[in-house]
Amino acid sequence: MTNTRQDKPDLGQEEAILAQASTGNKETKEALEIAEEAREKYTLPSFGSELFMGNFKPDLIFPYPEQSPEDKKIGDDYIRSLTHFLTENLDPEEVDRTREIPKAVIDGLVKLGAFALKVPKEYGGLGFSQTNYNRIIQIVASYCGSTAVLLSAHQSIGVPQPLKMFGTEEQKKKFFPRFRTGSISAFALTEPDVGSDPAQMSTEAKLSEDGTHYILNGIKLWCTNGTIADIIIVMAKTAPKIVKGREKKQISAFILEMNTPGVEVIQRCEFMGLAGIYNGMIKFTNVRIPKENLLWEEGRGLAMALATINVGRLTLPAASVAAAKQCLHICRKWGKSRVQWGMPVGQHEAGAEKIAWIAATTFAMEAITWLTSSWQDQGKIDIRIEAAMAKYFASESLWKISDMTMQLRGGRGYEKARSLKARGEPAYPVERIMRDNRINMILEGSSEIMRLFLAREAMDPHLKRAQPLLNPKSSFMSKINALFKCLNFYSIWYPSQWLKNIFPPKFKDMGPLANEFTYIHEQSHVLARHIFGSMAKYQQHLEKKQQLLGRLVDIGTDLFAMSCTCAYAKHLVDKNPGDKTPYDLAEYFCRLARRRIEKHQYALEHNFDKQGDAIAQKVLNDQITWLEKGVIPLED
Ligand SMILES: Cc1cc2nc3c(=O)[nH]c(=O)nc-3n(C[C@H](O)[C@H](O)[C@H](O)COP(=O)(O)OP(=O)(O)OC[C@H]3O[C@@H](n4cnc5c(N)ncnc54)[C@H](O)[C@@H]3O)c2cc1C
Repeated sequence: MTNTRQDKPDLGQEEAILAQASTGNKETKEALEIAEEAREKYTLPSFGSELFMGNFKPDLIFPYPEQSPEDKKIGDDYIRSLTHFLTENLDPEEVDRTREIPKAVIDGLVKLGAFALKVPKEYGGLGFSQTNYNRIIQIVASYCGSTAVLLSAHQSIGVPQPLKMFGTEEQKKKFFPRFRTGSISAFALTEPDVGSDPAQMSTEAKLSEDGTHYILNGIKLWCTNGTIADIIIVMAKTAPKIVKGREKKQISAFILEMNTPGVEVIQRCEFMGLAGIYNGMIKFTNVRIPKENLLWEEGRGLAMALATINVGRLTLPAASVAAAKQCLHICRKWGKSRVQWGMPVGQHEAGAEKIAWIAATTFAMEAITWLTSSWQDQGKIDIRIEAAMAKYFASESLWKISDMTMQLRGGRGYEKARSLKARGEPAYPVERIMRDNRINMILEGSSEIMRLFLAREAMDPHLKRAQPLLNPKSSFMSKINALFKCLNFYSIWYPSQWLKNIFPPKFKDMGPLANEFTYIHEQSHVLARHIFGSMAKYQQHLEKKQQLLGRLVDIGTDLFAMSCTCAYAKHLVDKNPGDKTPYDLAEYFCRLARRRIEKHQYALEHNFDKQGDAIAQKVLNDQITWLEKGVIPLED
């Protein structure tokens, strides 16, 4: 799904959703309208979408995919050379200290083809599968976060990915071969005034009078690789279009050569972590972009960016798994060697609890990462929901894992690796892992945006059916028609969400995890009922109920994580029946997930959201500023 061009969504649905958002202001409506237009339609099965509708479909995750021996060998061989190169030539602590990845290392990576991993072979690239690409990112991320970002910003979201998905043959022939010989790219969407809501961007590209090129003006912020890239993808507003008598904003995407006159890097930005990334603010003043560098079509730039990120998002879980594995290693070593109060710290129950949580959650992260990577390679499943869940789950879990690791390491967790090394102790970089990975919950769709995105996708099957009912512009007859269709569908669907839980399937093939699968089956019906019930109760106001939507999405995400984890455990035990520990990990993970699900379910009915909202409003209305007194004031 994500690697094919999409038809426009039908405007009726779009208007219906806008009608839902009728409480929002003009800017909110416009943002929603553009986001809706950029949304892809489902043409392939989606595990997540089915789960939200009460259809747990184990057939979509079984058999848990295994990399083919040929593809695995390609990945293994490459990873061997890359690991040797990195460990011989790159000191991640020096990158962190100096904020530079040495040029010799970047040159060496070019020689290894590390900037052409995803470029198809027919254009001179290595043509690696998503699975091998993610395995490589995992390896690099486990060693140096900044170097992993250098590679992934270039080919998860930079020019190679959208070029592969949306480029013309001429564009592919022109640009792809460069990535084998040292070209580095970037992706420029964010601006100083627009982050999560790129539809409101102000960077503009005007078609020249003779129609041969666009003239680009504006500023892009936080463009990773932007200070060293020679080519970038840039998104900008183009001339608006009149659709059904209304002016519609158009956002288009362009391939831009960074040596074009008028392009200026005005700042290299510095962050809490990822010290060695080349991230910058870029200014465009009357930059001439040849018309043939337009990617896809005018007005499809945001859809292209979203489709690119849908796939690009798969890299972050792989990088997060890498860091989680390092944390597990550190906790294992420290947990048994550090003795306090007469016992290793990992043997104290508080330490053991952390270690078990880290092990089980790392296992779940790995299960999700390789399943979604494989789905992308197979191209038979729409992965947009699962990629978002993978990114959301993995980035949030890693943050907790790194926090637990820091706690278990005590003072040494807070100490820099070079300081530990200076007195001859193992140079575990816990604080660097934490600093480097905190951003994962913010970029490529923040956790809050992932929850909204997933909530929108969860409601999609209902919105589609109720579209004419929600749309004030629909004719009376189409409303009546839709009403009968809805009655027809929901009179069977809704009772079945109860009835199917009376005699749930037993999933005997799942061995000791059978109960977990039955639980997922049952809970998917409960979740589907809650989603439907919330839509019926809150109607157009549901969009504003972010805490409620967040709980529903979190339940769905944990059910997805449980499904992947159990399938992965079964796959591993089937391969190696002598070792049943994958079952132990999966079972423990499922217990943890169930506890979270139960908490969310309780909070669906019993919460104090309104009270929290009221306090936030008071803070935002400057009514509690007395609480900020007693400190040296910050400069605003
Ligand atoms: C290190 C780094 C690298 C980056 N690399 C790139 C890059 O290569 N290319 C690029 O284009 N951009 C890049 N970005 C930008 C990144 O994608 C944005 O930071 C991200 O999209 C969030 O935007 P923002 O920071 O402006 O936050 P905002 O959108 O201003 O959001 C602030 C907070 O409000 C929340 N929020 C926003 N809208 C809503 C809502 N509707 N409901 C609830 N909560 C909401 C957000 O989740 C967040 O917590 C990078 C950023 C960093 C820090």
